[in-house]
Order: sequence, then C-alpha cells, then structure tokens
Amino acid sequence: MADTIFKKIIDKEIPADIVFESDSILAFRDINPKAPTHILIIPKEEIPTVREINGKEHGPLLGEMIDAANSIAKKEGISEDGFRLVFNCGDKGGQEVYHLHLHLLGGRQMAWPAG
Ligand code: AMP
Repeated sequence: MADTIFKKIIDKEIPADIVFESDSILAFRDINPKAPTHILIIPKEEIPTVREINGKEHGPLLGEMIDAANSIAKKEGISEDGFRLVFNCGDKGGQEVYHLHLHLLGGRQMAWPAG
C-alpha cells in the first residue's frame, strides 16, 4: 500500500511545521488550520484508524499522545481557556488521512455539536 502523507512527514520526505517529536510520536501544525491553533499529534507506528486501537496494546501510546497534547496546549497558551481533541474515524467520521491522528484545536470558542 502507498505511504500516506503523514508517513512521508514522519520519514522527513516532505516538510511539516513540527512542534514536538519523540521516539514514538510526532506533532505538527495542520496545513489547513480550522482554528488559530490546530496541531496534529500522530503515532510513528502506522495505525490507520481508531478502529485498530485496543486499550491493552495501545494504552501507553495513547497516553503519550494525550500528554503531548497537554504540554503543547500549554506552550501554545490555549490550555487555561480550553481546547478540543478530536479523532475522526472512517468516511462518515470525516477522516481524510488514514494514519491515526489526534487533532488539537484551540484559540477560539468551539461549537457543539461538531459538524
Ligand atoms: P482528517 O480529516 O481527520 O483525516 O484530518 C486530516 C488533516 O490533515 C486535515 O485537517 C488536513 O488539513 C491535514 N493535512 C493534510 N495534509 C497535510 C500536510 N501535508 N501537513 C499538515 N497537515 C496536513
């Protein structure tokens, strides 16, 4: 199967505005931001969607992704006011890139329900 755009970012084949990197995850600014702060937090492991996640195997990875979201939110100055974390899953969930990613959105008032 062809590499996703996010795999190419992990492999540094295409550029991204990276804000955090560890052995297992990468975070970079969304190229088409839907909020003043819009960052994508992704595992380096190729997991297509939330459907392939199970708590026993992936709990530590998900924990690291949430830790990164919290620390990036603080650095971006959006932690106190509040922010939104989103996993889109599958076609009807609005997922466009089939490499797991956690959206961190902030810097404006979010609406609910999400569209
Ligand atoms: P989703 O719809 O949940 O799959 O979100 C995919 C996100 O990836 C969208 O918000 C896109 O704007 C973003 N995106 C696509 N290509 C890139 C890229 N090369 N660099 C940064 N963000 C991207």
